[in-house]
Amino acid sequence: MKLCERCDNTFIPKVSYQIYCSLECRDTATKAKIAERYHFTRRQKRIGKNRRCLGGCGTSLSIYNDSGFCANCNVSKKAVDKTLKDLKGFFDYEQE
Ligand SMILES: [Zn+2]
Ligand SMILES: [Zn+2]
Repeated sequence: MKLCERCDNTFIPKVSYQIYCSLECRDTATKAKIAERYHFTRRQKRIGKNRRCLGGCGTSLSIYNDSGFCANCNVSKKAVDKTLKDLKGFFDYEQE
């Protein structure tokens, strides 16, 4: 018996190097690894570059920042998005 590295199920391996209980677990694990690798490379590319917040506040962003906005601007961006949505709803209503 072996313990699946993905879902913690126990299983009987068909081959000695089998580490996942099922094809699904193997696929999910492979996809997760690819995604992880992709994010890792993206972050590595950011090293040495001085990325500034897209909100125009001048804050330097860490390599882990995926949104392009600093924490402060990210909040206000969401607020703006919401306001725009509300406005759109308002205009839709007006046209009827
Ligand atoms: Zn599994
Ligand atoms: Zn900012």
